[in-house]
Amino acid sequence: MSYPYAAPVSQTLFDRAAVVTPGGVNSPVRAFRAVGGTPRFMVSGDGPYLTDADGREYVDLVCSWGPMILGHSHPEVIAAVQAAVARGTSFGTPGEGEVELAEEIVARVGPVEQVRLVSSGTEATMSAIRLARGFTGRPKVIKFAGCYHGHVDALLAAAGSGVATFGLPDTPGVTGAQAGETLVLPYNDLEAVRAAFAAHPGEIACVITEASAGNMGVVPPLPGFNAGLKELCADNGALYISDEVMTGFRVSKAGWFGLDGVVPDLMTFGKVMGGGFPAAAFGGRADVMAQLAPAGPVYQAGTLSGNPVATAAGVAQLRLLDDAAYDKVDAASARLRELVTEALDKAGVAHRVQVAGNMFSVFFTDEDVTDYAGAKAQQAFRFTPFFHAMLSQGVYLPPSAFESWFVSTTHDERALERVAEALPGAARAAAEATE
Ligand code: PLP
Repeated sequence: MSYPYAAPVSQTLFDRAAVVTPGGVNSPVRAFRAVGGTPRFMVSGDGPYLTDADGREYVDLVCSWGPMILGHSHPEVIAAVQAAVARGTSFGTPGEGEVELAEEIVARVGPVEQVRLVSSGTEATMSAIRLARGFTGRPKVIKFAGCYHGHVDALLAAAGSGVATFGLPDTPGVTGAQAGETLVLPYNDLEAVRAAFAAHPGEIACVITEASAGNMGVVPPLPGFNAGLKELCADNGALYISDEVMTGFRVSKAGWFGLDGVVPDLMTFGKVMGGGFPAAAFGGRADVMAQLAPAGPVYQAGTLSGNPVATAAGVAQLRLLDDAAYDKVDAASARLRELVTEALDKAGVAHRVQVAGNMFSVFFTDEDVTDYAGAKAQQAFRFTPFFHAMLSQGVYLPPSAFESWFVSTTHDERALERVAEALPGAARAAAEATE
């Protein structure tokens, strides 16, 4: 298809970027490779809106891939950040902000007795797995196809979104030894997990799963799946790690745990807890966390871990996320889902809108999607013209058919009305798409 290149300043920036940065971006999905066209270079954000370098405004349905749950430039978060910056930006010592953020997480998420702060979701999952291996003295890790846990070497196997988007089953640079202890099983398949435990007695350190999968598009756990994982782990002496980097503090005050109540041994967090800054965490059972240095022998560290500006942003954002805030996000998400369904139904496009709390995504298929094979079977070619029709009408969607859409407390009637106006044309474009 031909793309409306209505973004000359972004194109110039992208050309400059491509000279000095591989592919012109610092995280692959930003490059628009799955949808083509010019990635929009954003210069500012205000509530539910982003403005690009060409001066065009968009309703933002990506929200920085989850973190901006209060919308962009929330005045109280900005004020907290400005106050923190004015005191200095990094000390390399403990600080009160770290304690406050850890207390906030422990207070919200029952299973987290202790927490360690890091700077990215990738660091959180990498460290949690090291800790699980150190605690159990076992080598193997079970993960699920289509679940993404950051670019941890051992977990870059069948890893969803970015990897799905680029059609790379694996990545060069990860050795057989690094990935060899990882067992990749189909999502939502407890029998496969049972069989893996039977085949590898005493060898499996942990099962890591997205609390509700969001990196192959939104594919929630089937009823009993997470509880079954927990039980199988407990029966076999392995740890159950729930990756809540995406769902944590987004789908409820206590994340996915707040919705399904299954108690993990370890959990990982990122995105929302950083208020738009690089802050992430892993935590859980005190006896497991006690194995971490300097309390215990499992090494883990970070120069900028618990950074005072990042923790100020995170604390400010979490404190604003009360029940009323989640009600707003849930309502905006529900309304948006109605609008999408209505437009696609009207245009006669087979689709499933799959939901996990206030996260959702649209699959171009007429079957429920419960695993990665199902996600990949959708008619992803319909997404490209749909995406560009929305973009050209001022709606910024994730540039891939395998991603969750995100909204915030600021997605009000006006913002949703703009999406509603864009949808019929985009739905028609999806209907007319050919492979
Ligand atoms: N885990 C999950 C479930 C994620 O969605 C992501 C990122 O999208 C990560 C881990 C990695 O987080 P980060 O990009 O901060 O390294």
